[in-house]
Amino acid sequence: MANGAGHHPASIEALPMSRIDERYLRARLDHTRLSRRELLRGLLRPVAASFAATPPLRQQREIPRPPQAQEEPLLAQLCNGCGACATACPNQIISVEHGFPRLDLEHNYCDLCLACTAACETRALIPELPAMTGLVPVFNENCVLSYGESCTLCQEACPSQAITLPSAGLPQVSAEHCQGCARCIQSCYVSGCTMPQAD
Ligand code: SF4
Ligand code: SF4
Ligand code: SF4
Repeated sequence: MANGAGHHPASIEALPMSRIDERYLRARLDHTRLSRRELLRGLLRPVAASFAATPPLRQQREIPRPPQAQEEPLLAQLCNGCGACATACPNQIISVEHGFPRLDLEHNYCDLCLACTAACETRALIPELPAMTGLVPVFNENCVLSYGESCTLCQEACPSQAITLPSAGLPQVSAEHCQGCARCIQSCYVSGCTMPQAD
């Protein structure tokens, strides 16, 4: 992963705080307008049920981001690629890739300490959002439960009580409760679960 600032049309870094607030509000407004248009489009669709069933955006991220990152269109407008979040992260799991913060949960987990949010001056990461990376682990056949052995490591590691262990078969994850921290992944000694979106 390459570190370094990406290409941004206007540098927020160079703006005084009042201009940053103004820019944030403008971006937020644009985004709200877009969401309303998309909502109307969705309501006009004959299969409105499929729209209603769409999971929250935090579970749909294609690129792993810090836990309180704005939705992608807002992140793209607000983040200036300064890397303050990466420097602040005690677990060293953030890198700036193509100008935006990306999480690497392959070798470490996220503590959900939110030091990254505290370091972000542009409101690309904001404390008003729930602390979730937008990723959900998937269990695979390496998990020893799949061949009848017992293990509770992932469940014990989970700070959100999001994992249940059925009497037969793979562990189940509640997408509603999972915060995408990857502690379960780091606790597993047979690579029985992965974050597919983090590849
Ligand atoms: S919440 Fe803490 S551990 Fe997680 S990415 Fe942010 S700074 Fe790193
Ligand atoms: S601290 Fe904020 S503006 Fe800087 S790279 Fe991280 S998310 Fe972007
Ligand atoms: S430890 Fe729990 S909250 Fe963290 S990713 Fe795994 S299931 Fe989700």
